[in-house]
Amino acid sequence: MDWSREKLKERYNEHPVIWPLLKQGQAINSRLNYHYYYKWPGSNQRASTREINLEFASQCNLRCQFCALDHDKPKKNMSILVLRKLLDDWLEDDRFHDVAKINLYNGGETLLHPKRVEMLRVIKEYKNIALEKGLPFPKVSMLTNGMLLRPKLIDTLLEEELVDEIGFSLDGGTPESFEELRVNAKWKPFYHNVRYLLEAIQEKQANIRVYGITIVTDDKPLNTSWMHPEFVELSEGFDHHELRRLHDWGGQVDTGKKQNSSKSRGCDLLLRQMIVLPNGDVSVCCNDLNSKGVIGNIMEKPLWKVYNSENRRRYLELLDKGRKEEIELCRDCVTF
Ligand code: SF4
Ligand code: SF4
Repeated sequence: MDWSREKLKERYNEHPVIWPLLKQGQAINSRLNYHYYYKWPGSNQRASTREINLEFASQCNLRCQFCALDHDKPKKNMSILVLRKLLDDWLEDDRFHDVAKINLYNGGETLLHPKRVEMLRVIKEYKNIALEKGLPFPKVSMLTNGMLLRPKLIDTLLEEELVDEIGFSLDGGTPESFEELRVNAKWKPFYHNVRYLLEAIQEKQANIRVYGITIVTDDKPLNTSWMHPEFVELSEGFDHHELRRLHDWGGQVDTGKKQNSSKSRGCDLLLRQMIVLPNGDVSVCCNDLNSKGVIGNIMEKPLWKVYNSENRRRYLELLDKGRKEEIELCRDCVTF
């Protein structure tokens, strides 16, 4: 997550003038980047990807009210083979060495993967190889609903330094609204898990950044002054706490307020992200929780070929020309 961008968003998200201006600036920047990375001479020497999201597991243990995930889709877990193929491709192709983050989230809950610790150890193994070669390794960032992040697992993550950042979704602002919005989640165990993590980080002096994301309903202000003391306590323990309004996952979820699809050209997420699904399919952005934007598979071709595939270039070209209505996934997206 880009913190300066997030801070601007948090500060001006509801401002009637500054926010549209910032979005326009971002659109210009995206278009320039598009031409630099895909059109100008030497573009086959560089990749625009800065984040790779890994979907360890396609299923989720919660049923949050406003989530676009299709819970009827087949449940799949990423194999270690797929993970190794991605990391081998990353290691061998220096055009991807500017990737700054491996995000452990997409659709589904990462911690439902039956070999989650083994998977994280594989990533650590590649980090060690990269460091031995003098290569920078992306930060490993996990976003979780927190229900399965129990003390034993927390101790392992911290002792083996398996992640650099852990984020939690804690919507609502009170235990009651948390449980109402995040169906199947229970506030007490969630609170104890996160508190244990914050205390263990202090105790072990672990170098892990912790952040929270809270969806605040429209009837409440975007601050913590009215929140339950346990929310405030966790908020104060986080390195960053983002408060945001409900968003509609690229138009896939009805939030009760119609947001007009943006007419701006270019898409920063498409430039910056690639999402690797459990079977090795690659999708275009993290708004695509149900794999509508698959542009290739890393088990069939190298990562660069997927990045540079006709399918992905079509997305880039159409969005650059402001023709998002021609793409099913992007048509109703208000993110860009
Ligand atoms: S929002 Fe996240 S935790 Fe909630 S159902 Fe969707 S994937 Fe699961
Ligand atoms: S859905 Fe399309 S327009 Fe929206 S963020 Fe993803 S690629 Fe960009």
